[in-house]
Amino acid sequence: MECKPTQAPGPFDIAELRERHRQEREKRVRPEGDSQYLEVSDGFDDFYEVDPTNPIEQRDPVTEEIDVAVLGAGFAGLIASARLKHAGISNIRTIDMAGDFGGTWYWNRYPGLQCDTDACSYMPMLEEVPHVPKDRYAFGEEIYEQCQRIARQYDLYETALFGTIVRSLSWDEGIRRWRIETNHGDDIRARFIIMGTGPYNRPKLPGIPGIRDFKGHSFHTSRWDYEYTGGDRKGGLTGLADKRVAIIGTGATGIQVIPFLGEYAKHTYVFQRTPSTIDIRGDMAVPREWTNSQAPGWQAERRKNFYDGTFGVLKPGQADLICDNWTELNRNIAAKLEEMGNPELSAEQYMELREQTDYAVMERLRGRVDEVIDDPETAETLKPYYRFLCKRPTFSDDYLPTFNRPNVTLVDVSASRGVDRITEKGVVANGEEYEVDCIVFASGFEITTSFERRFGIGAITGAGGRSLYDHWEDGYRTFHGMSSHGFPNMAFMGFTQIGVSVNVSDMYEQQSTHIAYVIRQALDRGITRVEATAEAEQKWIDHMHATELSNRDFLLDCTPGYYNNEGGTDLRSHLGEVYGPGFYAFGDLIEQWRESGDMAGFDLQD
Ligand code: NDP
Repeated sequence: MECKPTQAPGPFDIAELRERHRQEREKRVRPEGDSQYLEVSDGFDDFYEVDPTNPIEQRDPVTEEIDVAVLGAGFAGLIASARLKHAGISNIRTIDMAGDFGGTWYWNRYPGLQCDTDACSYMPMLEEVPHVPKDRYAFGEEIYEQCQRIARQYDLYETALFGTIVRSLSWDEGIRRWRIETNHGDDIRARFIIMGTGPYNRPKLPGIPGIRDFKGHSFHTSRWDYEYTGGDRKGGLTGLADKRVAIIGTGATGIQVIPFLGEYAKHTYVFQRTPSTIDIRGDMAVPREWTNSQAPGWQAERRKNFYDGTFGVLKPGQADLICDNWTELNRNIAAKLEEMGNPELSAEQYMELREQTDYAVMERLRGRVDEVIDDPETAETLKPYYRFLCKRPTFSDDYLPTFNRPNVTLVDVSASRGVDRITEKGVVANGEEYEVDCIVFASGFEITTSFERRFGIGAITGAGGRSLYDHWEDGYRTFHGMSSHGFPNMAFMGFTQIGVSVNVSDMYEQQSTHIAYVIRQALDRGITRVEATAEAEQKWIDHMHATELSNRDFLLDCTPGYYNNEGGTDLRSHLGEVYGPGFYAFGDLIEQWRESGDMAGFDLQD
């Protein structure tokens, strides 16, 4: 398929749009930032510590000593566990509150759940654990099943501990092991710990006054209640036929769920604070013959191409294999440069070209809203006014048409920075009470809140009794993004101080390979304590800062959300701190470190 650049539907005025962006941002920024959200532990355990699929059951406590405890059975923990097994380390436990592997793809079972990025890039280990995605954007169930296949191939079920919530972690210097306390009273003593808890593990709720007063039914999208709604992930929510439903949240999740509510509920009220960008989904079956004809290594190559189309640069003549809204900006920039004869641009000239191209992409997306929505006022409310990638891009062929239905009402709550109040009977917005039977919270996850909230583990206590939450109070302090001084034998995964890719599976692969190497080396050399030195940690922090490519100004102009720490000036990005030279340069750096074989930067003790 030839991938062409796109165009804005007509001329637009950048200065005017900049001013509009400023106004839209100002309207929404809340001084309390992240603390506008409630923690599920704040009286909402029934939203979180419940598993509608495999209810958490009491079991006898486990008392054991193991080599490695992997916390989390989502993509991070799953890939890390597989890499440990691959390295011959089998005395491990993969621990999760869920009843199976899958993480995000275990918990999220809402109707319409589908991956928003190219499945051939996104789904883990497609060559190693052979599978050809059925669709360009795989449905949730298929991704979940790939997780199960990986777990089976690496015999991870044997050592998994599901339905298990970790309450505290403490380093015991006497035995040089981490002690893990859980909801079952387990006493697990692990030589190493891998923190694979992921960024989307803990749902959060809007701190709307009266949220506890509602007498109807309510749930968070990551704990979809099919007993109440009827149906399954494909639809058939017949239980809603006589129900008035409110949904709060129009991010990536809301966009996927709302068409189903519109189709099945008697009436749906969509409370929108900020509209998402909605591009066409344009899904299609992945041709069997295409994947069969690919040379080994095709997935890594495709992922690299995806990276170039998003966080990197598409070079002159380079094909855009992904060819969707994620890569549209870079693709259009490459096409413009080609038109101009590929001149050498100064940084300022490049940023100017980028801005113009960005505004054109957003103008095209706003044009789509006018094309689809019948009522001009509703269309205006659904138009996003911010730069591309200020918020997570979304894709749907069904979302916008839902607002043409007579049983769907869009309620704009931007002027009041969110819903006013929740009462016993429903939701109050713009001074009007909307009586409903059910409230669905599509309000996202603890992504940029404090580490304590994100991990949800009461205490993480390292050597000398130091808390990890204190150690990271002013931000990450790591060596290579994966270890911290004072926290021996503990490895971190995720968006810490590492190379970042739009494709998390790729990141987890890179980190897992590295962590498995370190643990393998320790076990082979009879080393019982591996701790990043204070010097190595500081050097890595300095190196990160020296190479940092700051997108601070960009984020400061964005409308609030978890991409920019709710619009605050303390820009704790959801990407953590990003290694400036890029994801692949980071991969090369840690690979060279491994090849040197000297474990430099670690204090090693027998
Ligand atoms: P988000 O954090 O993206 O969205 C939360 C929504 O709740 C926003 O629309 C927010 O509005 C709204 N909200 C919060 N507080 C209030 C309030 N007081 N009143 C009214 N509205 C409010 O969460 P999602 O679950 O949608 O997505 C989280 C992430 O999960 C995605 O960005 C994506 O990375 C991932 N995801 C991936 C999917 C995929 O690949 N298929 C599918 C779904 C999610 P505002 O924008 O104004 O803050």
